[in-house]
Amino acid sequence: MSKRDYYEVLGVERGADQKDIKKAYRRLAQKFHPDRNPGDDTSAEKFREVSEAYEVLADGEKRAAYDQFGHAGVDGQAGGGFGGAGAGGFSDIFGDVFGDIFGGGGGRRNPNAPQRGSDLRYNLELDLESAVAGTSVDIRVPRHIECERCDGDGAEPGSSKETCPTCHGHGQVRMQQGFFAVQQTCPTCHGSGQHIKVPCHKCNGEGRVRETRTLSVKIPAGVDSGDRIRLNGEGEAGINGGPHGDLYVQVSIKPHHIFERDGRHLQCEVPINFVDAALGGELEVPTLDGRVKLKIPAETQTGKLFRLRGKGVKPVRGGPAGDLLCRVVVETPVKLDEEQKDLLRKFQESLGGSNSQHSPKKSSFFDGVKKFFEDMKL
Ligand SMILES: [Zn+2]
Ligand SMILES: [Zn+2]
Repeated sequence: MSKRDYYEVLGVERGADQKDIKKAYRRLAQKFHPDRNPGDDTSAEKFREVSEAYEVLADGEKRAAYDQFGHAGVDGQAGGGFGGAGAGGFSDIFGDVFGDIFGGGGGRRNPNAPQRGSDLRYNLELDLESAVAGTSVDIRVPRHIECERCDGDGAEPGSSKETCPTCHGHGQVRMQQGFFAVQQTCPTCHGSGQHIKVPCHKCNGEGRVRETRTLSVKIPAGVDSGDRIRLNGEGEAGINGGPHGDLYVQVSIKPHHIFERDGRHLQCEVPINFVDAALGGELEVPTLDGRVKLKIPAETQTGKLFRLRGKGVKPVRGGPAGDLLCRVVVETPVKLDEEQKDLLRKFQESLGGSNSQHSPKKSSFFDGVKKFFEDMKL
């Protein structure tokens, strides 16, 4: 069979620049790539043809030789059905053009060896109450599992695999680079050495199918943001009979409208009015298991923390429950009527001026301010 013109193969003009050549190659190679056309010999042949054309036209030196002498100018180093790959060679072309699509060129790993399936991660948002008490949630997880029809083989039951036509079963193709012969993973079979003639109808030769499963996950009491729950074997199916990967449920806790969590401790803010703060009293504060009474002593200042022991969270890894810290915040009264305002003015008079013993903080603060300005005058 005489070879077609390389420009014709890629469908570009003779004067096409590298960008157009690369674009044309990329489009055709994707179209005919064996991964997308399992078992299709015509596509495999086209893929080879397109790759060979690109190899020559992408290389300035070879392209010049080809332009001048035609196929005779670049042939003669035949190896592995790809013509001679020059410096850089096959892997460079793949790394460059296919790196992001097909995950780069194959390594030295035996592609027929069993491979463990990938782990999966599921992000689960929980409210604080469920996280503290523990719960059970149903999650829907899409994943790949082994195809039942072909037992993960990829070949339609009753049909058999054939020896790969590109590498003749070696899994590697040999290329000449000057004096050196370089082995590369076969691009047609990705090193397996086998070729599926009749792909399985269910999985299209992939050996795996996608399914979405509903799993019931038990969330232990006390989990916190950043905790992971591992479900053994619930990840992706393995390849070539390898074990399943695992599924990790990654927990994050939604913000709560009352409590803020800090590990095993909880914090909340409790507003009190200034009369209670001054005279002392009893407050009702929320906890995760109901309201409790909290005694506030007389002369309580804003920002004071009250610790309720054991009213925090029991950690998932064991140990005693943490505490609930209630920060009281004195609230300035609003919407006062004239009579109430009058009472406050009278109350203010009864305190006797700003440097009163009734406001020690304020007095010492203004003493400090006074001293500060006096010192500045010196
Ligand atoms: Zn092969
Ligand atoms: Zn199948």
